[in-house]
Amino acid sequence: MSDHLQPETLALHTGIHRSQFNEHSEAIYLTSSYVFDSAAQAAARFSGSEPGNIYSRFTNPTVTAFEERLAVLEGAEACIATSSGMSAILSCVMGLLAAGDHIVASRSLFGSTVNLFNNILKKFNIDTTFVSATDVSSWQAATQPNTKLFFLETPSNPLTEISDIAALSAVARKSGIWLAVDNCFCTPALQKPLELGADIVIHSATKYLEGQGRVLGGAVLGKRDLLMDGGIFGFLRTTGPTLSAFNAWVIMKGLETLKVRMEAHSNHALKVAQWLESQPNVVRVFYPGLASHAQHELAKKQQKTGGGIVAFEVKGGKEAAWRVIDSTQLISITANLGDTKSTLTHPATTTHARISQDARDAAGISDGLLRIAVGLEAVQDLQSDLARGLC
Ligand SMILES: *Cc1c(COP(=O)(O)O)cnc(C)c1O
Repeated sequence: MSDHLQPETLALHTGIHRSQFNEHSEAIYLTSSYVFDSAAQAAARFSGSEPGNIYSRFTNPTVTAFEERLAVLEGAEACIATSSGMSAILSCVMGLLAAGDHIVASRSLFGSTVNLFNNILKKFNIDTTFVSATDVSSWQAATQPNTKLFFLETPSNPLTEISDIAALSAVARKSGIWLAVDNCFCTPALQKPLELGADIVIHSATKYLEGQGRVLGGAVLGKRDLLMDGGIFGFLRTTGPTLSAFNAWVIMKGLETLKVRMEAHSNHALKVAQWLESQPNVVRVFYPGLASHAQHELAKKQQKTGGGIVAFEVKGGKEAAWRVIDSTQLISITANLGDTKSTLTHPATTTHARISQDARDAAGISDGLLRIAVGLEAVQDLQSDLARGLC
């Protein structure tokens, strides 16, 4: 597909390989294996001398189509789809790192990512040092001779802290360290980490890429050499956390509306955030699109809009936060985000409950904090729904 086309066009037209039936919407290839013309062709496929599909744990045409489409949007040479966002992170780490290696990671990461780094990778002698998402010098200070990977999310979950991708990429590059950015909150519609110097982009496609809360999926993107020869594809092909063809198809259709959805999520979120700031029982609002956000200027430089996630702290701690949640009639009480329907979460007792109180305090996740993933409902309806529990 030509370079001169705009992203919203590419999101509709990349990765189309029509079958003999000339279907307009992409076909789904629900098959676990592929037939060879001859014994010689089977041997050639297995040896790699002839490209082509062998088995859907390795490749599948629908999954490949999704990978091509997402790669174009992120400006990546290559994309490897995975069964979930967590398996994307796992595949990235297991593919690139070995026992004895070290990771420097943002303290403000998705709860399961912290658990993976802290508890699971440690068993394999891969240690992680957690540092401030926003203090570049602490990343430099935490770097050891065996540091192989910097890992961050920006904006972070749930506090929407912004990490300076370009500045951290400069620190990483100096020491031959890979920088991986979980681009879940922004998606390529708002932020392109590879253009800012990241080596790897991670996605939980479960969220905005898919966009309607239907299926799980994930992806790792970056340079072809790093993904294919660096061990990530090998890990996935051998161990099997690959994306199903059906899920690939659902997410690929989600990409077609990504730009308009992200614009609408951002518009609605900004209005909700501004309204929350005016509420007497709200102590603080965290939203990159607000002038009051600690890194508003960096956010404006790095991402197109503020995105769809707003965190806010209510007066009265957990009790008051739960009252807001339990008073809603429209907004769903669920930990998922990136859905067209708004979702509301109390991070301290759900997504971040497995993390120790000390670590939560260090990350600034107070008991009165709520996170809303603002959907596409009318803003006035969302405001009324939140207002009920705020008075
Ligand atoms: C949800 C999420 C993940 C994990 O993705 P799954 O698809 O649930 O495995 C990783 N990072 C961030 C920022 C997320 O929000």
